[in-house]
Amino acid sequence: MIVRARWTSLAALAALSIGCSASRRPEMIADLVLTDGAVVTEDPRHPEAQAVAVRGGSIVAVGTSDEITALAGPATRRIDLRGAMVVPGLTDSHGHVRSLGEELANLDLHGIASPEEIARLVRERDKTLPAGAWVTGHGWDQNLWPGKKFPDHRLLSRAAPDRPVWLSRVDGHASWANLKAMQVAGVTRGTADPPGGKIERDGRGEPTGVFVDNAQGLIEKARPEPSREQIKDWLGLSLQRLVEAGLTEIHDASVDPEDVDAYRELADAGRLPLRIYLMWNGIGKSRIEPLVEQAPFSNYKDRLTLRAVKLMIDGAMGSRGAVFLDDYSDDKGNRGLFVTDPSELGRRATLAMRKGYQVCTHAIGDRGIRLTIDAYEKALAAAHPVDPRPRIEHLQCIAPADVARLKPLGIIASMQPSHATSDMYWAEDRVGRERGRGLYAWRWVLDAGVPIAAGSDFPVDPEKPLIGLHSAVTRQDLKSWPVGGWHPDQRMTLEEALAAYTTGAAYAAYEEDHRGRIAPGYWADLTVVGKDLRRIPPEEIADAGIDFTIVGGSVVYERR
Ligand SMILES: [Zn+2]
Repeated sequence: MIVRARWTSLAALAALSIGCSASRRPEMIADLVLTDGAVVTEDPRHPEAQAVAVRGGSIVAVGTSDEITALAGPATRRIDLRGAMVVPGLTDSHGHVRSLGEELANLDLHGIASPEEIARLVRERDKTLPAGAWVTGHGWDQNLWPGKKFPDHRLLSRAAPDRPVWLSRVDGHASWANLKAMQVAGVTRGTADPPGGKIERDGRGEPTGVFVDNAQGLIEKARPEPSREQIKDWLGLSLQRLVEAGLTEIHDASVDPEDVDAYRELADAGRLPLRIYLMWNGIGKSRIEPLVEQAPFSNYKDRLTLRAVKLMIDGAMGSRGAVFLDDYSDDKGNRGLFVTDPSELGRRATLAMRKGYQVCTHAIGDRGIRLTIDAYEKALAAAHPVDPRPRIEHLQCIAPADVARLKPLGIIASMQPSHATSDMYWAEDRVGRERGRGLYAWRWVLDAGVPIAAGSDFPVDPEKPLIGLHSAVTRQDLKSWPVGGWHPDQRMTLEEALAAYTTGAAYAAYEEDHRGRIAPGYWADLTVVGKDLRRIPPEEIADAGIDFTIVGGSVVYERR
């Protein structure tokens, strides 16, 4: 059974006798055909197929390999999938593109066994950077080196004498500078230790180059604001990594005006390999008015959309900042901290909705979530927005009584499956057994009829959606711990998990008419997974591999 684009005229259909290539009209020839695959369409009318044809950036036909092969001409690119799985282009509904890029641009110093090896990496990086840029890195640990002593600046100063070098220790509590960095920051023998910080010094009182805790701020404050080119480089590094992971769209969960400008320039230059859905950073600022006064826009250069605002009510559970109705189980008297006062959150949500923006609020503790729902209820009543689709980002520990309030308000649950398997080692220490039933409560949310839009919060967790799918289906870590899964009653089925990365994510971005399905007329965003995830044991999902990432009909990643 072949399903063709709606625009196919009856005449063209009549002429297009499948299997009879002589009768094909040129306008029916596909740019790209994928055949002999396991195509999971997320289209309820035709849930499975073998092959897909693409033309002009859209899907034009879905059917058997024979039917689709008949749409190929001499100039058509043909991909023989050899049984690989094709799903609608996977989307990460919550990530931080620039942060990932900054991390990738940093030298990775984890596990390096000598300071000399680090100096060698610094010397190499120094050769590749433009004038004025700093060499930055993270992850060194002197306990892995001979002698286990703190380093001093001389090795780095010799490796890169003309530009600042600034490398943070594995725990972030100390950093290592070269002489140039200290000069640029104005740090000398006369500089006093700041409160809560220590400048390591030699026998003569000269700074040696290691800055502990708050003393890191002395160098940090001298770092220049990144240039537009620098931001674009970070975004570019990150986007390349994301398409390699099989992603065709990202919801970037908080951008500042300079990031939007950088994205626009990349879009203008045709350098966005995947689609980006932006949320203004409405966190912490005293005013979001200047942001939401700008009109939202959609699908700029077939890539870029800005129509959401990210707000934040509370902190995170790991650092006991998430706001709970009761005390933390492992810290009596502590119920967390508001990042934004709830009344201010309500004011911002109302304002954003009035300006036509979707509101996406980070809420993690049960009280933070309850007050966000309250704020949405009031904002919706006050602003009367058209199709608002408010989102709660993370929704990590919901009180059972609040689950039924989500659907009537049209709230979308933007959740990160791998957070459950990253946090499961300690999350229940924070909240105890009873509240722990509501941790990462995907089953409760889905059973209440609430769509989940899945993501990873990269670089907090790895950007790979296959890792998220594994977490969603198993609630186990990559070593299959714990046996049977952590709170396995909250697991998703593979079908539900795929939907969260495709249809759920598309709905969360107002794109369900164009994306999230493999059906004629939909944008040709496709992810080809090396193995059919339905036919392998769940513990192999994370390693199934990405064969192709296709965005708007263009192959933007291909496994070599
Ligand atoms: Zn985030």
